[in-house]
Amino acid sequence: MKKIGLKILGVLIIVIIMLQYNVVIAATKSELNASSSETDQKIQEAKEELENINAEKSETLQQVEELITQISSYQSEIDELNNKISDINSQIEEAQNKVDEKQDDYDNQQELLEKRLVATYEAGETSYLDVLLSSDSLTDLISNYYLISEINESDMQLMEKIKKEQEELEQAKQTLETSKQDLDNTRAEKQQKTTELQNAKAEKDSYVEQLNEDEKNTQAELEQFEQDKRDIQAQLAAIAKKESASYNTSNISNNPSSSGYIRPIVGYGITCGWMGYSGHTGVDFTGSGIAGKPVLAAKTGTVVTSTALKYSNGSYRSYGEYIVINHHDGTMTLYAHGAPGSRLVSAGQTVSQGQQIMSVGTTGNSTGYHLHFEVRVNGTPVNPAPYLP
Ligand SMILES: [Zn+2]
Repeated sequence: MKKIGLKILGVLIIVIIMLQYNVVIAATKSELNASSSETDQKIQEAKEELENINAEKSETLQQVEELITQISSYQSEIDELNNKISDINSQIEEAQNKVDEKQDDYDNQQELLEKRLVATYEAGETSYLDVLLSSDSLTDLISNYYLISEINESDMQLMEKIKKEQEELEQAKQTLETSKQDLDNTRAEKQQKTTELQNAKAEKDSYVEQLNEDEKNTQAELEQFEQDKRDIQAQLAAIAKKESASYNTSNISNNPSSSGYIRPIVGYGITCGWMGYSGHTGVDFTGSGIAGKPVLAAKTGTVVTSTALKYSNGSYRSYGEYIVINHHDGTMTLYAHGAPGSRLVSAGQTVSQGQQIMSVGTTGNSTGYHLHFEVRVNGTPVNPAPYLP
């Protein structure tokens, strides 16, 4: 009695450990799946942000390009103005030289005249005073006065002509200087505009730099998220591998058991047993990739039921797509939740052991792909496990 009690305790402990193990795996797996979709979301967002940044950048770069074109256009206008100003400066200089030359002419002329007057006086020849003093009468004086005036008249006229010419040259020079002033003003305006454009360009340049920085950061974030995603997938793959290792029963022989049964599916183990939960009157075969796998007749017999249970609205209920086979030895087997339309046999048909009768699905009262298998003795469900190899 004591020995049996210990044995039961041992089995219980193992069952508890296995259950906990499965629970831990399930929790981790669902957590990983949750953070996987969270990471997908982040990756999506990062990609959208990158697209926005790139669109913004290309728009800004286009604006920079336009500014460069405008600046260069202003710059060539300024260059042209500089050439004109330089030309006009030479013209002004030339005009100034001419004005100066005229001044020299005028000065020379005046000097010559003065020298001649002095020379005339000193030589004791006709002089103003002499002429005036030697006049015999008023008439004579006036006449002589005119004579002297006459002498200097041509000199005076020459000097006046020079002065006039100089004034004209000065006038031309003034005109040139006014034009130059206009050109200087225009150039100053253009330079002002160029400075404004260059400032605008500098602003855009620094915005592009900022966008480049944003792009780099977002790219780094994206890479991190993608790395996270790969890590999660690696962990999920490791779990799947462990799970399939624990479910993989392909090495279990499928030679008929002492009851003459074979397993109704190859390569998958029982993951929920008889009374695995209240009212579970069969066993469930589950595992990675089970969807669509062949469901085999456990023993030769005659199909008594092959149907699909549905609600009036057409959706599957209860066993969904299911088949019952009578083995004519007091036992029947039931196969449930087959894939929609996958049943290959109909009522009254004889099937041989190992023959495929349908494919694994999840129709009816089922939350995932699995094969629900029952054994009935004289119509009453029993634990199928002892019947299987
Ligand atoms: Zn079941």
